[in-house]
Amino acid sequence: MVEWSFIEDMLAHLGFPNHFIEMVMTCITTPAYSMIINGNPTPLILPKRGLRQGDPLSSLLFTICMEYGTRILQQVTSIPGFKFHPRCKALRLNNLWFADDMLLFCSGDIDSIAMMISGLKLFSETTGLQISAEKSEIYLAGMSTLEREMIAKISGFRIGKLPFTYLGVPMDTKKITPKECEVLTDKMCKRIKLWSSRNLSYSGRLQLVNSILISICTYWTQIFILPKTVISRINSMCQHFLWHGVYDSSKHGNIAWDNLCIPKKQGGLNIRNLWLWNKAAIGKQIWSICQKKDNLWVKWVHALPSTHYSIKSVYIQLRPNGISVPWSNPVWCRFSVPKHRFIIWLTMRRRLFTKDRLLNFNLVDDTTCVLCKTDIETHDHLFFNCCYSAVILKQVMQWLGCNFQTRSLQHLLQKGWNIKGNTLKKLTVLVAIAATVYAIWKIRNNIIWRHKDATTATKMIYHIKWIVKNRMLQLCNDNYRHIEWLKAL
Ligand SMILES: [Zn+2]
Repeated sequence: MVEWSFIEDMLAHLGFPNHFIEMVMTCITTPAYSMIINGNPTPLILPKRGLRQGDPLSSLLFTICMEYGTRILQQVTSIPGFKFHPRCKALRLNNLWFADDMLLFCSGDIDSIAMMISGLKLFSETTGLQISAEKSEIYLAGMSTLEREMIAKISGFRIGKLPFTYLGVPMDTKKITPKECEVLTDKMCKRIKLWSSRNLSYSGRLQLVNSILISICTYWTQIFILPKTVISRINSMCQHFLWHGVYDSSKHGNIAWDNLCIPKKQGGLNIRNLWLWNKAAIGKQIWSICQKKDNLWVKWVHALPSTHYSIKSVYIQLRPNGISVPWSNPVWCRFSVPKHRFIIWLTMRRRLFTKDRLLNFNLVDDTTCVLCKTDIETHDHLFFNCCYSAVILKQVMQWLGCNFQTRSLQHLLQKGWNIKGNTLKKLTVLVAIAATVYAIWKIRNNIIWRHKDATTATKMIYHIKWIVKNRMLQLCNDNYRHIEWLKAL
């Protein structure tokens, strides 16, 4: 509980105008409380001190208390006989505050510790704020047991062991160990467990990997160089979640994780490569240090094109340069349904588990395409050459006014991407190709895994047209050029 008189005095000493102080004091001294006992309100209780919890003013006034605390502790350093912690001497540092978390540093001799404690006592007595002995610990290094016991006795604090947690991360004098990173990996596991019961598509899970799982690690990567085993563990959890919806699985993913971290232009998914990101993020810290010191690093920093360090641009520079794939733009067309996009991406990478691939793993012995029951099921066959798929693709394209002569699915995507003069038509064609590939993959799976009959081509075409038109009308308003063309479909 903060004493009102303390706040009033502090505001006056900090030079706030009288009128302002009166207004603040009115705000904090006028609330009255009443409690409900056995259903009846008690008479009003008028408090004599303290700030209301949740009051937007409270946190600002609390900062004033902290300011007072810092000033007292700075005063302590000028008492004759006070010794700084050897590592903090140059900066004359003996305290760090963040909200109500406080770190104090001093030399391990009893006199200096006693001076710090008396500073804290003065702070408590003046402000009315108590230091919680339960939540406080004292960390000692290079001392005898006798000395340690004495210090524990005079300070009233427990002797703690490193690492301790400050602002959510473990603090230690040594390099962070995989064990200390368990807090981080456990946090990610918990999130994944929460999601595993949901029936999410690949693209839904990819969204969660990028927006939640990777960002949980970002804070840590800016503070520590994470051990390689930890990064591997994180990657493996993200990978299992992406492909199988769980954090741990005996099954493999469709594509190696490193290949998913490359840019979409090069055929990847642009998932953040944590190892390189970690390097780039720690580089920022080195950069900040170097700005203040004249050494070799400074010359290196001046060689960089800008005076500003961006983790992202350094990360992009660190990433190995790959070869672009010609199909990335049409595949990642932002109008396509996300789950369709993901399947057509896997198709272009030839990483769906088609029967020819399953044969390589000795998982099947019959490789016949279930749609035409004649040829071997490969990616090229299933999504382009199969007579069943070919009819569907051709009719869907004709519906959109396209009579392409094409050699492959990739060629078809390119033709669609190259449509000029009618952007809406170009986008609709790309949305339709992705929707068709998805529908073929889905019906193929239903026949194999659920023993359903093949839907007739006519029904499939009707279904695809319906999805495409609805998707486009949802995303385009009447201001789009050629909207009438779309509506007339
Ligand atoms: Zn076939």
